[in-house]
Amino acid sequence: MTSGQHPAIGFIGLGIMGRPMARNLLRAGHRVVVHDVVAAPVEELVGEGAERAETPRDVAAATDLLVTMLPDSPDVEAVYAGPAGALEAARPGWLAIDMSSIAPRVARELAVRAAAAGAEMLDAPVSGGDKGAIAGTLSIMVGGSDAGFDRARPILGAMGRTIVHVGPSGAGQVAKVCNQVVVAVVIEAVAEALVLGAKAGVDPAAIADVLQGGLAATKVLEVRRENILGGRFEPGFRARLHLKDLRNALELAREAGVLLPATAEVEQMMQRMRIAGRGDDDHSGLVTVLEDLAGIRVCDAVGRGATPTA
Ligand code: NAD
Repeated sequence: MTSGQHPAIGFIGLGIMGRPMARNLLRAGHRVVVHDVVAAPVEELVGEGAERAETPRDVAAATDLLVTMLPDSPDVEAVYAGPAGALEAARPGWLAIDMSSIAPRVARELAVRAAAAGAEMLDAPVSGGDKGAIAGTLSIMVGGSDAGFDRARPILGAMGRTIVHVGPSGAGQVAKVCNQVVVAVVIEAVAEALVLGAKAGVDPAAIADVLQGGLAATKVLEVRRENILGGRFEPGFRARLHLKDLRNALELAREAGVLLPATAEVEQMMQRMRIAGRGDDDHSGLVTVLEDLAGIRVCDAVGRGATPTA
């Protein structure tokens, strides 16, 4: 089951993030057994040296380590606890690392079920986006035991650069939810600023340059500048997945007795994107919600500024 010193790894969920992450494990010398409900990415990885398995249970039976990178809590529940799910093959010594962003409550529940079979499950969501996944420089926040973390660390090192053990089971997902609150609210702030500037007649590209040179500088504008100023919203990170993260944040806030007023507003704006059929656009497409209301497009104002309003 191993190739040299590298343990064999199962990988389920070969989307925007999972495909390059699995590829980085292959490149690091691991034998990788892959599965996805969509055939094309499986074929692609098999063409690069991976093996395929037909069900999550088969993946889990073939390897002692499983990594999952799935969209949402129900998908993770289905892959682990549904029919032919991975937990059917859970056994002492088996370690699962769920790197999807899901509700902390679901992460804890599945970890308890894995422990009942003598196995262990870590939550290890990531930030750094598709670019970080391709470069192997993701930031990874891990919840689980010290022993589980120590065992996962070398594997995570093939996919990420900043790897932090943030606490017990569920803590990684709590950290990820906090991360997503910041990213969403910053996207919204950048979008407000550029729509305002454009409608007031100033070139939004010039405003973006100025913002990045001072206290308002943000990674969001650095990474999503071409999307927002160019009016192009190929994902990246799908708005419907960010909407899911904000709902997880609001659920956690209710459980913890915390108010998240700005997050609640941005959740409604992302919901607006989804209703308008833009849920698969990049999350930076949030700017289109404000553009619709203002009656302008930021991209039309680049290089000249829009006609000033009275
Ligand atoms: P994606 O939609 O591109 O990929 C998800 C993959 O999971 C798809 O290939 C899909 O076919 C597969 N899948 C869904 N249900 C399945 C099932 N039951 N069995 C097997 N495969 C199944 O999503 P993504 O952008 O790769 O994101 C994955 C996770 O990572 C999400 O939780 C997301 O919030 C998180 N994330 C994404 C980014 C990003 O920039 N895209 C960044 C950080 C975290």
